[in-house]
Amino acid sequence: MSTYKFSYDNKEFELKEENCDYINNEEVEGLEVSNVIELLKNCEEVNFDVEYYDSACDQCRANRKDETKFFEYLEFHFYAFTKNNKFVLSSVSKEYENTTFTSLMKEKKIDNSFIVSVIACRNCGVWAIEVEQCEM
Ligand SMILES: [Zn+2]
Repeated sequence: MSTYKFSYDNKEFELKEENCDYINNEEVEGLEVSNVIELLKNCEEVNFDVEYYDSACDQCRANRKDETKFFEYLEFHFYAFTKNNKFVLSSVSKEYENTTFTSLMKEKKIDNSFIVSVIACRNCGVWAIEVEQCEM
């Protein structure tokens, strides 16, 4: 089983299929938890940033930011490009280094794009994937 590891503020996180809470992806065929892990592993510049939401982590319920009403998560975004709703490549794929979104569109290699959010609980590290269509 594949695992993507990163550290944030001296804390180690491990993203793997077993601790993935859910993937919310109804539109992109061929984009699954396992490929998201692989994409992250093959990408040199993955930078997770802290994001705050008003709902607690379902798993631990212990990611509240101090005395506030906000809950802490670590988040990273990339783009997934598709043709006929099938995953073609992502903005963190090696193949994307030598091309651009515009030329891929012109060459008709892709016809749509989605933003993929990888969201991990700052406390317990349980994570989730949200896939949403970009405004074109
Ligand atoms: Zn948690």
